[in-house]
Amino acid sequence: SRDSHVTPPPGGDGLAAVVHGLSETIVGVLGGGQLGRMLCQAASQMAIKVMVLDPQESCPASRLAYDHMVGSFDDSATVQEFAKRCGVLTVEIEHVDVETLEKLEQQGVDCQPKASTIRIIQDKYLQKVHFSRHDIPLPEFMQIDDLEGAKRAGNLFDYPLMIKSKRLAYDGRGNAVAKSEHDLSSAVTALGGFDRGLYVEKWAPFVKELAVIVARGRDNSIVCYPVVETIHKENICHIVKAPANVPWKIRKLATDIASRAISSLEGAGVFAVELFLTEDDQILLNEVAPRPHNSGHHTIESCYTSQYEQHLRAVVGLPLGDPSMKTPAAIMYNLLGEDEGEAGFHLAHQVIGRALSIPGATVHWYDKPDMRKQRKMGHITIVGPSMGNVEKALDSMLNDKISDSQ
Ligand code: ATP
Ligand code: MG
Ligand code: MG
Repeated sequence: SRDSHVTPPPGGDGLAAVVHGLSETIVGVLGGGQLGRMLCQAASQMAIKVMVLDPQESCPASRLAYDHMVGSFDDSATVQEFAKRCGVLTVEIEHVDVETLEKLEQQGVDCQPKASTIRIIQDKYLQKVHFSRHDIPLPEFMQIDDLEGAKRAGNLFDYPLMIKSKRLAYDGRGNAVAKSEHDLSSAVTALGGFDRGLYVEKWAPFVKELAVIVARGRDNSIVCYPVVETIHKENICHIVKAPANVPWKIRKLATDIASRAISSLEGAGVFAVELFLTEDDQILLNEVAPRPHNSGHHTIESCYTSQYEQHLRAVVGLPLGDPSMKTPAAIMYNLLGEDEGEAGFHLAHQVIGRALSIPGATVHWYDKPDMRKQRKMGHITIVGPSMGNVEKALDSMLNDKISDSQ
């Protein structure tokens, strides 16, 4: 029965000896964006204290956190000061000061996942090298240091060629596509030049993009969430369908590769594995995130244990919860800024207004102070009895939008 998932307080593992609630450990989260906010929501349910470190006074997690330290998660002194106040350190963004995390770990600070994992993941090229050493299937890749190198890569991998910045990438910022050799130099310039640290990937002719959330507990137990399909708009995650409509064999392959990839990394927490499905039924790994992920937002409404609750359970050392779906189907729709300022808020509110009258729909608004084009402002999850049903509900939510603006 579901009651078996009610978890006893943890024993041993260096955690507090006397535990009156689920955990006395104060969880420190580097970053206070929407992922941090949703971690706080899950934490409040279990009365787990979450502190966030974020430079922005009015960041999405700010008002929901047990405490918010205003400061940079990329600044050594600030991260050290923050760590003193927490029982375990975790991240909701991988672009943090990893040298300091490594130093803190040596001093006995508990980081979950481990600093070594953040180091590998925050540099996409290093990440690719790491996974290729662990025999995880990937698009071919190669470092480029100058235009000659880029041309060699183009000759080897052909065009279109995907050029990526090694570091600080998100929402496709940090990616540029060269359609031919002529595009190379402008693509490199668009990414800030070779000094920024670039590499190329062979174009992956995918038929679908899939993602798997994998959770690992402090006892090294691993659970995988159902495979989902992610649909991107201009490199930004836009729609997630759960479960993915792919054959059982593909789901198994995707789950095996995701679980194998995460087994090669150290530490507890949830991880997202982004995958490509090719026409000939191959699965290639795109990238991993060492934290809750946009492809797992739907789990709040559609799974027995959300990715946020799961991440907290994992990092404080509680047993992992059930990742399986409690609804037959779910669709997550990202509310991306469609315009700047008031005009953008108005458009978002039109969609939200319609969502509020759709059965099975739940609105999440991140309360970001500024509206910007392409910015993730919120999301809507629709759950229902079948994928056809939730797709129809999404259609009606969006098609009204077209007739409204006509
Ligand atoms: P995220 O917001 O997920 O962190 P990101 O900025 O790290 O995004 P990637 O995940 O590297 O960017 O790429 C964004 C999208 O670009 C992918 O989801 C996919 O649609 C496309 N893409 C990335 N790499 C390739 C490739 N080698 N071939 C074809 N398309 C690709
Ligand atoms: Mg990324
Ligand atoms: Mg990505």
